[in-house]
Amino acid sequence: MARDWVIRGGAVVTPDKVIDDGAVVVRKGRIAYVGPAKELPTVLTEPDGHERFPTARLGEIDAQGRIVAPGYVDVHVHGGGHADTMDGTVEAIARIAEVHAAHGTAVLLPTTMTVGREEIVAATRAVKEAMVASAASDWGGARVLGMHMEGPYIHPKMIGAQHPKHVRPADMDELREIYDILEGGLRLVTLAPEVEGNLDAVRWLYERGVAVSMGHTAATYDQAIEAIEQGVRHATHSYNAMTGLHHRNPGVVGALLTDRRVYAELIADGIHVHPAAMAVLAQAKGPERLCLITDAMEAMGMPDGVYELGGQAVILKDGECRLESGSLAGSVLSMDRAVANMVKLVGVDLVSAVRMASLTPAESVGLDGSRGSLTVGKYGDVVLLDSNSLLCTATMVEGRIVYRAA
Ligand SMILES: [Zn+2]
Repeated sequence: MARDWVIRGGAVVTPDKVIDDGAVVVRKGRIAYVGPAKELPTVLTEPDGHERFPTARLGEIDAQGRIVAPGYVDVHVHGGGHADTMDGTVEAIARIAEVHAAHGTAVLLPTTMTVGREEIVAATRAVKEAMVASAASDWGGARVLGMHMEGPYIHPKMIGAQHPKHVRPADMDELREIYDILEGGLRLVTLAPEVEGNLDAVRWLYERGVAVSMGHTAATYDQAIEAIEQGVRHATHSYNAMTGLHHRNPGVVGALLTDRRVYAELIADGIHVHPAAMAVLAQAKGPERLCLITDAMEAMGMPDGVYELGGQAVILKDGECRLESGSLAGSVLSMDRAVANMVKLVGVDLVSAVRMASLTPAESVGLDGSRGSLTVGKYGDVVLLDSNSLLCTATMVEGRIVYRAA
């Protein structure tokens, strides 16, 4: 399949504006032009060299009536299409990558759960395999560019849908093993910084350039600020499974809302967080610090029924996933729906909402050099959206079309 394209006629979303009747050229998997369609030159220079090529011979993609946005970057996703990262196979990750690509995701970090060491290590090996496999032209979904390790170093009282049996303080030997398997692919670690010994892990990860996220945490405001001082730069599903904001006890929420250094994740399904609280987060953090995530589990993209998350049964009914106890257990959210919800439920402008799903999460895990925006030289990760629903109609990853609505 050709990898050289001109996507012409849509409303092109860049990090700071919308170009109506724009054009995006992708050449050899990289973006070679972003601008008004009528200003597209007849000859362009290749993004990675000095060679010039004519634009008349590119494959044409008509984007009239569509929004053309950068492919979305999901840094917190467990599963989809009845597959889970904890299945521990490259096939499961391929399935997740395929299902989420149909909703605009171009890059994802498979996310592990609070389970035993052997299971985490097995899943880590599968992620490593998927990082290699997803670079091949026969991979039909989002690129896998690393892993998010969520737990098991969390607070026993803030487990959410994580399994209580396997909660434990940071184990440096285990952490080192996982870090080594991934060879630079460990991009994000969620832990509770107030648990004894966990700040050692924060410092160790920070020194290695791994983003550390406070989550499933019972930290006080002061403990959260101390954790940020030690290197925490990210907050896992803000509001959920952390100490809330009280006006005399501002908690982790108070710390993440007010400290500019922290990237704040949000499950913007309108179920995990009330739209008014979504708006508070959007206003406090702005598009440069809010990361839309799915936190999706295997039931995403599936009909209502009984599924599994981290060894526990989860009931999906009317878009809500709950444990038998009633606790929310992951989501069936998709990235395109998350963006649509920010626009429609919260009133965020399109440019900001798209940034929250692409460039900002890419920045939060150090992938923004080559991903997350329609910028010349970056990979050709492009998504077409219906201009009314904002839902995905086509997804391109590194210049390959991995999804096209029938
Ligand atoms: Zn999660």
